[in-house]
Amino acid sequence: MVLFCIIGEMGSGKTLTAAQLAFKNWYFRKQKLYSNFHLYKMPYYFVDRVRQFDYMHEGYVLLDEIWRLIDSRLSRTTSNKFVGDILARSRKRQLVYVYTAQVIDTIDKRIRKVQDFTSLVSTNRKETAYRVNVFRTGYIKNGTYLKTFYFTSEIPKQLYSTQEEVDMIDDSKDEGGCPEPKLMWQLAAGKCLNCGTLITANPNRCDPEYGGCGSRNIEPIQPIFFDTWEEADLYGQKYWEKWFEENNFISSKSLS
Ligand SMILES: [Zn+2]
Repeated sequence: MVLFCIIGEMGSGKTLTAAQLAFKNWYFRKQKLYSNFHLYKMPYYFVDRVRQFDYMHEGYVLLDEIWRLIDSRLSRTTSNKFVGDILARSRKRQLVYVYTAQVIDTIDKRIRKVQDFTSLVSTNRKETAYRVNVFRTGYIKNGTYLKTFYFTSEIPKQLYSTQEEVDMIDDSKDEGGCPEPKLMWQLAAGKCLNCGTLITANPNRCDPEYGGCGSRNIEPIQPIFFDTWEEADLYGQKYWEKWFEENNFISSKSLS
């Protein structure tokens, strides 16, 4: 099991870092993905209900703002059980949890005590390059520094919406079966019919702030659902093989 935490304020690039790690581990290392926020251009199981967490086996789990959601959405009893289950599950199953938090103190103490890595993200002024300092354990102090890695935003900025409000549904008291997490692929939120740009951040406008043309003539793009991971994975692999070719991007395993 691995518990990997990403700390950073709003807009610091912590969700971007989570998306970057997910891309690397899916595309290059063939890991299954689970996420509590919607992803674009990567296959993933969408988990936003307490009981859906029990479906996760082997893979990479992205949890944006999870501790804030647990605090605000779950009762104390449910939240205690939920955290206990996360720990029990991650030990038994081969799951890597990657979660973000604005402040390290908001992370449940039981998690923090066994947390494997804590990382801090920072960016340059143009927000094109990111630096991630990684520390061992749940504590940033002398002697826990492990390494630093860098990445550019070109790929990860395409992979999610910066405007999504993540939420969590407490279905812990519901009777009967829980719906399985959906296995999804979504190219983007929409496509600009004027210039062809794929829209991620603002689904209503081809935002000039992100290099768009300003048009509001946007065609929404719906997600596609798959029955098996193999099908979804193959679909995604093909998309990116083509993307790397068309964009002349160096697709090396060292992309980190
Ligand atoms: Zn446009």
